[in-house]
Amino acid sequence: MTFSIHGLAVARGIAIGRAVLVASTRLDVAHYFIEPSQVAAEVSRVREGRDAVVAEIHRLLASIAQMNPKDTPHELAALLDVHLMLLQDEELSNGVRHWIKDRLYNAEWALTTQLEVIARQFDDMEDEYLRERKADLEQITEKILRAMRGVSSPLMQPLGRHGRKLTQQDLLIDDTVDVPLILIAHDLSPSDMLQFKQSVFAGFVTDVGGKTSHTAIVARSLDIPAVVGARLASHLIRQDDWVVIDGDAGVVVVDPSPIILAEYGFKQRQGELQRGRLMRLLHTPSVTMDGQKIELLANIEMPEDAESALQAGAVGVGLFRSEFLFMGRHGKLPNEDEQFQAYKRAVEGMQGLPVTIRTVDVGADKPLDDTLRDDAHLNPALGLRAIRWSLADPAMFLTQLRAILRAAAFGQVNLLIPMLVHASEIRQTMALVDHARVQLDNRGVAYGPLKIGAMIEIPAAALTLKVFLKYFDFLSIGTNDLIQYTLAIDRADESVAHLYDPMHPAVLRLVAQTIEQAQAQNKPVSVCGEMAGDTTMTRLLLGLGLRSFSMHPAQILSVKQEVLRADTEKLTLWADELLQEDEPSKRITQKA
Ligand code: PEP
Ligand code: MG
Repeated sequence: MTFSIHGLAVARGIAIGRAVLVASTRLDVAHYFIEPSQVAAEVSRVREGRDAVVAEIHRLLASIAQMNPKDTPHELAALLDVHLMLLQDEELSNGVRHWIKDRLYNAEWALTTQLEVIARQFDDMEDEYLRERKADLEQITEKILRAMRGVSSPLMQPLGRHGRKLTQQDLLIDDTVDVPLILIAHDLSPSDMLQFKQSVFAGFVTDVGGKTSHTAIVARSLDIPAVVGARLASHLIRQDDWVVIDGDAGVVVVDPSPIILAEYGFKQRQGELQRGRLMRLLHTPSVTMDGQKIELLANIEMPEDAESALQAGAVGVGLFRSEFLFMGRHGKLPNEDEQFQAYKRAVEGMQGLPVTIRTVDVGADKPLDDTLRDDAHLNPALGLRAIRWSLADPAMFLTQLRAILRAAAFGQVNLLIPMLVHASEIRQTMALVDHARVQLDNRGVAYGPLKIGAMIEIPAAALTLKVFLKYFDFLSIGTNDLIQYTLAIDRADESVAHLYDPMHPAVLRLVAQTIEQAQAQNKPVSVCGEMAGDTTMTRLLLGLGLRSFSMHPAQILSVKQEVLRADTEKLTLWADELLQEDEPSKRITQKA
């Protein structure tokens, strides 16, 4: 039966495929397709893993039998018996074999997929005792995965076969491996998302998350259709269901009828045609109708993203979110050389164009590591995040500063500092930059010149620009956080997402005055929050005087199309009027 689930539109486009439900705790398991010739080897990898766990349990049972009954809790042997029973369950082994043989999933993926299938059945059980056996099932899966780690696995292969275009007919009749897969999860961390850059998924849906949560931001950078904040999606959708993601409308259609499927297939093709048309603007200079040159820069997460930035015609990187180099490393931070190599790759990748590297911004919804997530802080967005984190650990910060300074010897590099608010933080930061230079001088290591800029993303910073303009060479407005902190709306919380309003007059006034004051002192100013890539905001930002936009590479050509149609003289008058409105969003659709 067809039904739809509504969430928040995050990354545009339509994806049609089969659901792959992944428990958030299982996202670290590799997901890749194997060759048909590898089926037998993968099946035996799981079998050997399972046999190793069975042998271990038998050993334990034997040692329990030899112990004094007083020394061993009697539940232990019973529990181990349950584990043995679950391990020998045919539904587990047959299911795993099915995912490997019929879908060509790698062994770990097949095992965790079948775990999800059986876990659902346990969830639906009336009997509490049986329901609780789900935890045992999870434990034995974990043990098998651990046992399998000792058995080598073939190299992860990015999916080649999805390159083939699927026809409508394929979608209706092809029930096997040549079908796009849609990841459905309760939650995904930004670092989980990053793994998907190389993955097999054609789209994804999560139960939680706001429109400018970092998970959503990474999804947008992957440029695959995505919906977040879809509440119960991971409960309502079953493994292998057909689903359609409408990333423009924020809707997920489950089990679509052939007519609905045909409709979305059509929409999907229209989207592809539109993208093709936009590509024609690639070499068109970004200039408004009245001759204003507009700088379109890229936001990147990894050095390798420089390639997509260039392909989209970016004239530089306006925001390299360096924290992604620090995430998912189980607490081990990258050393100076590792960071230097990464920054240098980004600089060289941009082939002489400027690269703005932002110092690490972890904390809030960007934990360093999922396993290290510290829930003790009730308001992590107001806690030790970004520059606060860096200043709390000067040795770590100096390491990053030295690495960035060294990369600046290979091209034009700007240094960007996130979340500053106090003059004292600015002074400490500047002192540490000087100190990093001295350290490199003492070591005789070469480094290059840097322009230093500040993110304006806390209202207090926007209201005290004088001190920022005194110290910094340029400003970059982080509208994602500026909105979050101005309106007191957690950007990652879908339950208040309807109140997260980029058009709130207070937000627009802070953005407008930041642009105006920076320009009055001839300091470059850009916007690097999601607002910059939102085509419904382009005319307004131009009207507010903005001439530099930084966004995901995939958004650059759509924004350029808006720029080419704009007349900034008219837009300035219109934006002035809009700023006086109580509810500017009501007038945004009216033409200037
Ligand atoms: C912002 O806050 O707008 C921004 C660009 O930084 P981030 O989204 O990484 O917090
Ligand atoms: Mg920010």
